[in-house]
Amino acid sequence: THFGFETISEDSKDDRVGAVFSSVAASYDTMNDFMSLYIHRLWKDHFVRSLNPGINPLTSSSSEPQGMNILDIAGGTGDIAFRLLDHATTIHNDQTTRVTVADINPDMLAEGRKRSLETPYASTGRLNFIETNAEKLDAIPSDSVDLYTVAFGIRNFTHKDTAIREAFRVLKPGGIFACLEFSKVQNQLFDAVYKRWSFSAIPLIGQIVAGDRDSYQYLVESIEKFPSQTEFRDMIRDAGFVIPGEGPDGEGYGWENLSGGIAAIHKGMKP
Ligand code: SAM
Repeated sequence: THFGFETISEDSKDDRVGAVFSSVAASYDTMNDFMSLYIHRLWKDHFVRSLNPGINPLTSSSSEPQGMNILDIAGGTGDIAFRLLDHATTIHNDQTTRVTVADINPDMLAEGRKRSLETPYASTGRLNFIETNAEKLDAIPSDSVDLYTVAFGIRNFTHKDTAIREAFRVLKPGGIFACLEFSKVQNQLFDAVYKRWSFSAIPLIGQIVAGDRDSYQYLVESIEKFPSQTEFRDMIRDAGFVIPGEGPDGEGYGWENLSGGIAAIHKGMKP
């Protein structure tokens, strides 16, 4: 491939992914808008609304409201974290829920910190940023997190199953793992049109807008290689999670397709 993605060893994948995101950090948000025709914003809004973050009814008393402890993995430029805090604050009048944005890439985190200065959360202690690999969350104690989110991040991880097991470790019993990620388009005709768009237009837009064709070629290839809805649901279940709403045969449950399967939301609850 352009990026040598097929031939690099798994051990060097973290470095390679790091190089990709360092190179796209500054243009990342603009490129998302261009590539998805702004639809990624709707997906992210829907993802956060479906999680309904805010005051934790299980652990809060009305005299002492207690917010959620949220971990946004691969949080990059803070897109999901800001939405989570906005929802908690405006919908639940919750000033206590806090989000830790964790990312392996210091340049993406720096962009997130910079953007956070334009939000009301900058010096509230409700938002912090840590540099870490999702596969080894040593800074996060076991059974400490109410909600683990990962949006458009997990397909870049070298060992996805290890990252999901780390999510299981850090979540409290009853805590939720929630993933928004590109997935498999369900309709064959739509899939053909979508593949044509992504394989030709996205690298070209990357070249024109960000001057970086190879990084966007890599992003398209990483989407193509990511497991199907069912396979990914099974990976989450294999890590020990209960899949919400799963029927007796498991089929057709455990995820929500967005835009015909271009993206999907998967959730799991730690029993
Ligand atoms: N969540 C953000 C969003 O939805 O806009 C950013 C998504 S961006 C496509 C993917 C992010 O995953 C990058 O910031 C990258 O640095 C991060 N990432 C890749 N591999 C990682 C790993 N092993 N651990 C933590 N973060 C990782």
